[in-house]
Amino acid sequence: MSKKLTGKIQTVLGPIEGEELGLTLPHEHLLLDLSVRFKLTDQSMTSRIMAQKKVSLEMAGWLRFHLFENVDNLMLDDEEMTIKEAALFKNAGGNSIVDVTNWGIGQDPRGLARIARATGLNIIMGTGYYTIDSGCTAELKARSEDEIFEEIVRDVNEGTDGIRPGIIGEIGADSWPLAAEEVKSLRASARAQRATGASINIHPGRLEESPLEILKILAKSGADLSRVVMSHQDRTAYSFESMVEQAKTGCYLEFDCFGMEGYYPRRYGVFDVPNDAGRVNYIIRLIDKGYPEQILISTDMAMKTKLVTYGGPGYAHIPDNVIPLMSAKGMSEDVINTITRENPKRMLTFVSA
Ligand SMILES: [Zn+2]
Repeated sequence: MSKKLTGKIQTVLGPIEGEELGLTLPHEHLLLDLSVRFKLTDQSMTSRIMAQKKVSLEMAGWLRFHLFENVDNLMLDDEEMTIKEAALFKNAGGNSIVDVTNWGIGQDPRGLARIARATGLNIIMGTGYYTIDSGCTAELKARSEDEIFEEIVRDVNEGTDGIRPGIIGEIGADSWPLAAEEVKSLRASARAQRATGASINIHPGRLEESPLEILKILAKSGADLSRVVMSHQDRTAYSFESMVEQAKTGCYLEFDCFGMEGYYPRRYGVFDVPNDAGRVNYIIRLIDKGYPEQILISTDMAMKTKLVTYGGPGYAHIPDNVIPLMSAKGMSEDVINTITRENPKRMLTFVSA
């Protein structure tokens, strides 16, 4: 089966040629249950009331600084709204969206196929396990490395109703120190990468050491690091030096939080998450170091507040706002094409297994 995929990209509506991919968002969510990330602000009744409110424009201001403190905000659960929102990307010249929603947060093959038909977008689906603390805790604990490997290979080759994933990920590995179950999932994913010819997308931990440790584990299990995407470069405490260390391994560095301009994660203390200008500055420095072919950009739409409906930047943020910013900062059309079209095409094209 995987032989047939070599040289092709697998969408939820079947394989396509690389030339059909076009402008691509390599790390998004269209239907998603991220409620596992919900956290009550404090024990007060006021916090409990805010936690349970339905997202509305009226509460968009509060949500801006309480992203994870409202359950509804962490759910992309309205297919009609997703179709309307994703169409904005298509109207802005976009062609393809990678939905890395996998096991534990609501992988939805039939739903994604419906959205692909309704919007005319190429949609590439993810597979494998999200983090140990998501909806797949019991499965990740129960399965052996071999079983996880077989599950992923079966999904890529057979799928659900013939709807097959085109990428392994986003594989959750954000515990620190890394939980044994997430290490098991990484090892199985590395082997599944070799067996299928697909790429792997990783959701790493939030400490500087995490991505390099993950890359070491993947390499030890035989992964091709030039087909590994290290997500969320821009939401953590990674220094530019550690980005360069990652780039030296050959992996892709994904800046997928574009549009997230007021985010203050505190799990390991307070870090300065860059805004879009800061993200582009990091990218320019990496290009100067010689890594233009390892950079990917996206908007990781994982919350209602990121949707245009609720005052967010929406799926069209890259073509509407980020590419013009890149041009204004002196990036050439050639380099922008490499990052937004050529790199996703190379990353998503199956290699011989
Ligand atoms: Zn992620």
